[in-house]
Amino acid sequence: MKIAVLPGDGIGPEIVKQAVKVLDFFGLSDAVDYSSIGGAGYDELKDPLPEATLKLALEADAILLGAVGGWEYDKLPRDMRPERGLLRIRQALNLFANLRPALMFPELIHASSLKPEIVSGLDIMIIRELTGDIYFGEPRGISLNNKGEQEGVNTMRYSESEIRRISHVAFKAANKRSKKLCSVDKANVLESTELWRKIITDVSSEYPEVELSHMYVDNAAMQLINEPKQFDVIVTGNIFGDILSDEASMLTGSIGMLPSASLDENNKGMYEPSHGSAPDIAGKDKANPLATILSLSMMFKYTFSDNDKAERIEGAVRTVLSQGYRTQDILSENMSLVGCEEMGDKVIEELRNV
Ligand code: NAD
Repeated sequence: MKIAVLPGDGIGPEIVKQAVKVLDFFGLSDAVDYSSIGGAGYDELKDPLPEATLKLALEADAILLGAVGGWEYDKLPRDMRPERGLLRIRQALNLFANLRPALMFPELIHASSLKPEIVSGLDIMIIRELTGDIYFGEPRGISLNNKGEQEGVNTMRYSESEIRRISHVAFKAANKRSKKLCSVDKANVLESTELWRKIITDVSSEYPEVELSHMYVDNAAMQLINEPKQFDVIVTGNIFGDILSDEASMLTGSIGMLPSASLDENNKGMYEPSHGSAPDIAGKDKANPLATILSLSMMFKYTFSDNDKAERIEGAVRTVLSQGYRTQDILSENMSLVGCEEMGDKVIEELRNV
């Protein structure tokens, strides 16, 4: 077992440190190898995805990433920005399937901005295509048009094979859950998503036990707020998935609770919290490390097929929450405020107890 650990920027190193304590607890210290990415990669080697990092990631069975980005890098040329490192590693490793669960922990029901009856029991899996769409489509860029005016261009593009492979991931995931799959597109306006709808409908004939529905993205954004429990598995393209999964995360109270997995065709994966590098709280021991710790749970489940460790991690997080420990982002009345480090320690204590 080889796990590449890429702490990245901002709160990345603090939250990753807590997750590595969990790996240490399971006796996996020797499986871990560190490298830099994002702004840290730029600072060290003038590259947001240094060659050594890519090599380590290619050789590893799984990758644990903190987060990338920071205000100090915003003025760099686009290719040198931290986020570019992230896009490049996803593309180089062919991590085309991004799984983002939005799970409501009962203990955090009051952290949601929606009424408890709307979010209680919420358990949605959003599957976002991660290596195509407008984030990667060519042509792209800013240039002068024939009127001599600046013009920005991006291209929304999906090939049939890209849609087919993410469709299979989505149907398989739905099959293991409640057998309901909602595909989100904008097929009434955008041809690339018209093709998306056509291909996923075609693939659905291979999964007769899964009920497939379609929804336009604007409606999906409304329905997620209005009646989120109507959804079980949602599959969508890169840009819609980016936005909808952040929206869904808010239903659960805090983005600091939400893990994610990005998988290739063989279930090799990169695991990271759904949030960014939170520069506003970096280095202050205020970050919630639970999304990163829960990302490890996903790593054991999807890459290492070790449900026992996956469930032990999730169980320990649930117990710590039920004991009333909260980082500031999920703090509510009568709960005990802890920092990032202490939250990590509480999870380890609980793992020791089970
Ligand atoms: P963000 O997710 O970093 O922060 C949004 C808000 O949520 C902030 O108030 C932050 O303090 C809070 N927050 C985020 N994670 C938290 C945690 N674990 N515990 C407690 N509070 C938490 O998003 P942003 O502010 O839009 O972006 C900041 C930087 O992160 C930017 O440079 C952006 O490009 C980058 N980013 C990186 C990723 C990634 O690495 N995958 C994803 C999104 C944004």
